[in-house]
Amino acid sequence: MTEVKLVVQRFDPFIDAKPRMMEYAVPKREGMTVLDALLYARDYLDHSIGLRFSCRQASCGSCGMKINGRPRLACYTQVAELGGDKVVTQPMDNFAIIKDLVTDLGSFFEKHREIMPYIIRADTKEVEKPSAEYVMKPEELEEVLQFTYCIKCGLCTSSCPTVATDSKFPGPQALAQAYRYTMDPRDEGGVKRLELLDDAHGVWRCHFAGSCSFVCPKGVDPALGIQLLKRHVMSGKAPHREGAKVWAPVGAMAPQK
Ligand code: SF4
Repeated sequence: MTEVKLVVQRFDPFIDAKPRMMEYAVPKREGMTVLDALLYARDYLDHSIGLRFSCRQASCGSCGMKINGRPRLACYTQVAELGGDKVVTQPMDNFAIIKDLVTDLGSFFEKHREIMPYIIRADTKEVEKPSAEYVMKPEELEEVLQFTYCIKCGLCTSSCPTVATDSKFPGPQALAQAYRYTMDPRDEGGVKRLELLDDAHGVWRCHFAGSCSFVCPKGVDPALGIQLLKRHVMSGKAPHREGAKVWAPVGAMAPQK
């Protein structure tokens, strides 16, 4: 049976002065992912390895880490695709370490919340009790679709050189989502978001390194979203929208009472 040499960066900030690397010999099998290898090591070799995971299918974004030096999802990375028999796992950069491979995503989610990642409308009564279905044109959906695939794994933020030097910078994930909601024809909160981002630590701090788009496991291009967002921040105007059309075919949808 062939083995993979799994190297795990270990660090408990409450106990350790600095990180150390530990090696585990894991039996290799066809189709084995890095997460599989880590779970084998934790279950059979060392119960104290700290890691986070949930869905095992690249949907939840929990198992982001650095694998052989590059930010990746452990569940979405097969050992075979890395080449060689050595796999080095480390926590994501730009985040505080809770333990071993588990990082603190608290500030990441806080920045996501700050850009108001939801539809904002003045007609609150209609929001609470919609009278019909609101539809987007196919071309409007096309503009934002890729950004809706974000699973909030944090890989883009961990790879961003601006996040590494400016802790107030919202980061590629939050900025791409600001673009996604501002471009949504049902949204009326664009100007509020643009004001928030027109700041010394805001959208202008992005120097278009592009590493965020390179590492995204879901094919999102946050760097593109940020550049497009800059255009609207510059004008101070949210894109002109006629407002999403209310679609209620006769007899298909009765207004709610
Ligand atoms: S944009 Fe991609 S890399 Fe960034 S949080 Fe979303 S899914 Fe993860």
